[in-house]
Amino acid sequence: MKRIIAYNVRDEEVQLAFDWAKAHDVELVIAEGQLSVDTVHLAEGFDGVTTSQNSKVVKEVYETLKNYGIKQIAQRSAGFDYYDLEAATANDIIITNVPSYSPESIAEYSLTAALNMVRKWDDIQVVTNNHDFRWQVPIRAGLVNEMTVGIIGTGHIGLTTAKLFKALGAKIVAYDLYRNDKAEGILEYRDSIEDVVKESDIVSLHVPATKDNFHQFNYELFKNFKPTAYLVNAARGSIVDTEGLMKALDDNLLAGATLDTYENESDYIPKDWSQKDLEDKTLEKMLNHPKITFTPHIAFYTDVSVRNIMTFALQATLDVIETGDTTFRVN
Ligand code: NAD
Repeated sequence: MKRIIAYNVRDEEVQLAFDWAKAHDVELVIAEGQLSVDTVHLAEGFDGVTTSQNSKVVKEVYETLKNYGIKQIAQRSAGFDYYDLEAATANDIIITNVPSYSPESIAEYSLTAALNMVRKWDDIQVVTNNHDFRWQVPIRAGLVNEMTVGIIGTGHIGLTTAKLFKALGAKIVAYDLYRNDKAEGILEYRDSIEDVVKESDIVSLHVPATKDNFHQFNYELFKNFKPTAYLVNAARGSIVDTEGLMKALDDNLLAGATLDTYENESDYIPKDWSQKDLEDKTLEKMLNHPKITFTPHIAFYTDVSVRNIMTFALQATLDVIETGDTTFRVN
């Protein structure tokens, strides 16, 4: 029976991991904490390793794993920036990630966020909780069926999101640096982000954060939005200039925004700050902004994502043990 050690497993993942191990006739052992110089000795005697790192994996760790005869580390996330790929390769260690675990989860979030704004859901709750049951213009909804939706980034998540809006009858326009052949018949590409946002009633972001798109959605760009348009950002916080967005909303350049990411979120998410003051005044202002709904980087967080992240990483581990390779390798 093959033996896999899993580092840094969250409580909600434990049963999923053991269920997978049982179904694949693998002996699984869970180790406390992340993979490090201090914990790598726990992997001795195992055939494979999986972990969820948010601290660096240094050269000595790959050297030690090689000495134990281990040939891989399976990271349980899309990002793999904590690995020294050169040092891993030099020690014949294959690093794998989980590049796409559930695009539907983020797509359904973006649709939900847009529908909540279009249907004035939050405003309806306020008046209803106040026992004001009248039909009145401020809570009268729009209809996605008659809208144009702008998708920025048409990869796995963007295209899945486009299909959901398309199913509601919306017209979809999009911008991507590289056009996706699979998008034909679903959306129409435009030549620039400005062209997309000018036409759109809902703008949904699905691009990675790069040095080129830092604060790309800034006050100047918001001048191109329809005053009735809504923004959804379930991509990365740094793409949106938060102060610029708040000023644009205050100046009625657009109607509202739902943000699942914030540019300086790393100190706060996912942690419990309920008993502490927020030191970040922009975050505090954003949370209190009447036209912004914020969620804590939670678009991915569904039953399916949690299951897929764990089981895809375990499968990549077993693939390397049994065949010496896997499709999810990043080095
Ligand atoms: P993907 O690689 O399949 O697609 C990204 C697309 O963006 C590609 O088509 C690429 O050509 C395009 N692109 C890259 N840079 C661009 C730019 N500057 N301008 C225009 N287009 C650009 O990635 P994906 O799986 O669809 O994920 C998209 C993003 O969603 C991720 O990078 C991540 O930031 C975000 N994400 C968020 C969550 C969450 O929980 N909020 C979870 C997973 C991913």
